[in-house]
Amino acid sequence: MIQGTVFKKTIGSYTVHTDDQVLVCTISSKLRKNLVYLFGHSDPSSASKRVMAVDDIQSVDPIAIGDTVILSDSGDGTGMIVEVLARRNKLSRLAADPKDRGSQKPLEQVIVANVDLIIPVFAAANPAPKWNMLDRYLATAEIAEIPAVICITKMDLLDAPPAEIEIYQQIGYPVYLTSTAQSQGLDEFRETLSGKISVFVGKSGVGKTSLLNAIEPGLGLRVNEVNQRTGKGKHTTTHQEMFPLQVGGGIVDTPGMREFGIWSTEIEEDFAYLFREMRPLIGACHFGMRCTHTSEPGCAIIEAVEQAKIAESRYHSYLKMRDG
Ligand code: ZN
Repeated sequence: MIQGTVFKKTIGSYTVHTDDQVLVCTISSKLRKNLVYLFGHSDPSSASKRVMAVDDIQSVDPIAIGDTVILSDSGDGTGMIVEVLARRNKLSRLAADPKDRGSQKPLEQVIVANVDLIIPVFAAANPAPKWNMLDRYLATAEIAEIPAVICITKMDLLDAPPAEIEIYQQIGYPVYLTSTAQSQGLDEFRETLSGKISVFVGKSGVGKTSLLNAIEPGLGLRVNEVNQRTGKGKHTTTHQEMFPLQVGGGIVDTPGMREFGIWSTEIEEDFAYLFREMRPLIGACHFGMRCTHTSEPGCAIIEAVEQAKIAESRYHSYLKMRDG
């Protein structure tokens, strides 16, 4: 038995990278049943703990890219996955609209497991960064408890970094300022990716393809090719792929994260948990845990905004997220 990481999956087929080879694998029906059981019961803190009929859960693939698996090697480039090791974390989404399935229960589908880094990518200009969208991506990373770093591309278009960058640095998110035209910040950024599973999030036009090509020749083109084939995320249920890096690790590209995480029932209580700088103030308001931080007197978060200890833009993102 050998251990490997799932890099690609299509219907019924998984591409697994081991230390020294790449195997195309299947999974046994026995394992599938076990995994379905685990899927519903392994994480008591998550929304998935709710009881689901077996019919419901069987539609979800129990193996995600990024999973560490134990497999048997058939010796001819194929293998069979016999075990999936416990996940450190995961990025999930709703597998399908519950109404379409004739059920009220949300169904989780894991898109990537064992993620080391979430990397929102924005251009310094052309198009101008949408900081509210960045806050949304960062909140999703907080829900999943995955570290995030911010990458700004096209720095050659500006004389100085955007002023907003400082807000994010101050609350502890590393920011990489890059330019492929001027070869700026690329070595440092590549080093950050080394040996890790990274999820890139950013709309087309922010320069992701050039950035990836600059990190590793041809990488951006390979990612693009697959994106075009799979219709930019439309078919993420049937084809998912992580691209291996020469420096070790791999990258997953996604056009957006709106579909990930935010639906989670766990965070309905207080969205302020998803804003690092607000989290320590939760409970300190006059109305304690009942405070919605919108208009209450004695709200510790509103006071911090008034005192410029919390950026107004971040607070507005909080309000926006609260409203849905
Ligand atoms: Zn408050």
